[in-house]
Amino acid sequence: MESDANVTRIAVIGAGPAGFYATDALLKGLGDRASVDLIERLPTPYGLVRFGVAPDHQKIKSVTRLYDRTLADPRVRYLGNVELGRDLSLDDLRRHYHAVVLAVGSPTDRRLGIPGEDLPGSMSATEFVAWYNSHPDFQDLAVPLDAKTAVVIGVGNVAIDVTRVLAKTVAELGETDIADHALERLRGSTVEDIVIVGRRGPAEAKFTTKELRELGELANADIFVREDELDVGEASLAAIAGDVNATKNLEVLRDFARQRPEGKPRRVHIRFLLSPLALRGDERVRSVVFGKNRLEGRPGGGLAAVATGETEELNAELVFRSVGYQGTPLAGVPFDERSGVVPNDAGRVLEVRGGAQVPGLYAAGWIKRGPSGVIGTNKACAMETVASLLADDLPTPSEPSPEAVDALLAARGARPFTAADWARLDALETAAGASAGRPRVKLVAVDEMLATVR
Ligand code: NAP
Repeated sequence: MESDANVTRIAVIGAGPAGFYATDALLKGLGDRASVDLIERLPTPYGLVRFGVAPDHQKIKSVTRLYDRTLADPRVRYLGNVELGRDLSLDDLRRHYHAVVLAVGSPTDRRLGIPGEDLPGSMSATEFVAWYNSHPDFQDLAVPLDAKTAVVIGVGNVAIDVTRVLAKTVAELGETDIADHALERLRGSTVEDIVIVGRRGPAEAKFTTKELRELGELANADIFVREDELDVGEASLAAIAGDVNATKNLEVLRDFARQRPEGKPRRVHIRFLLSPLALRGDERVRSVVFGKNRLEGRPGGGLAAVATGETEELNAELVFRSVGYQGTPLAGVPFDERSGVVPNDAGRVLEVRGGAQVPGLYAAGWIKRGPSGVIGTNKACAMETVASLLADDLPTPSEPSPEAVDALLAARGARPFTAADWARLDALETAAGASAGRPRVKLVAVDEMLATVR
């Protein structure tokens, strides 16, 4: 590394994919001048790769090998268990860094805004995903799996992940790194039918084809799609012309509609053109009332669901709203409530949408562009942000040394989880996994993680 005077100190906030890709781009762009602190609220790195990617999709998680290279770089310090807003303020960061890259993702979920949404047995898919992936904040989530039918609202990849976890056997899931508490609860699951419901048609579904196809290959569940709901109109066909994913999705759905059920213990149904209007129940959810839709061209392009006035009620003792993640505001950082992102221009944070740049402040990943795309999408996104940062004149911080950050954190009583701590925890988790024939057995509670490595 260069002498202190030539070093550019950057804080990257959030150690998910966008944070790692931003750090990597900073190392490449700044070379020997780079000094990056990768700051993460939880002790463990990798964000949604650890807490979002489904446990039966281990291959996708192998991307962490690249992130580990970044963690091992001497120009990078990992400061886990340090939270912006709790242990450090934005003003603190301005004092100690030339620039700050916010890569905090979209930590919460979109709501439906319909009656009964908060009945016991109704929850967001994002909470359920966090629960079965051992996220420390969701270990106590109540998931009443003594249900016969689960309805999953939304036709994106998260809906598919949730469905697979509900449909697979405990033996299948037991080979993964699913949370022990979730495996135990799923052992007693009485769920037989899982109904995925889209408000628009099959051509408008957000699934990626590879993920959709997996629903037809489940050992423990038959797939059901109605021929009549696949009768997409001219407008939908025109809208997806040239869209390989949507076209292939239609082919897969048509295959599903032709598949003969084999009498497997569970059934996955995919339904379309139904908008949730209300959840009904007593001490728990019992059914979902849907309004039937038809599609109509929007003035600005695309197709909108329009109510026909007819309704359909589906029994369900378990309901997951899987209608997307949602960004939340950070103290002192501009936030656009309407779009749920930090207003920005190519990653440069703006005071308001279309307004002046906030010097030294940048955004990457979902908090920059919204909760869309796959893990790799964040690479190009982070590279764009870092290109903006490297082209700018950065403010000069008053105390740019790493030691000053350490002293501040110590004074605040923070207990940073270092890359060495993570390496120890990682080794413990994978060793526990190896002896159980699993990729890893995750620790869940933050206190336990801290106690285990110290
Ligand atoms: P998503 O792909 O944006 O899908 C959200 C779904 O919710 C859409 O079908 C949307 O329908 C529907 N929706 C939104 N508001 C609704 C409402 N009020 N009522 C009924 N339906 C509503 O979101 P996601 O599934 O949460 O996934 C987030 C991102 O992570 C995606 O980019 C996804 O591909 C990615 N991901 C990838 C993988 C993987 O690669 N294996 C796994 C999980 C997630 P409209 O289209 O009509 O708005």
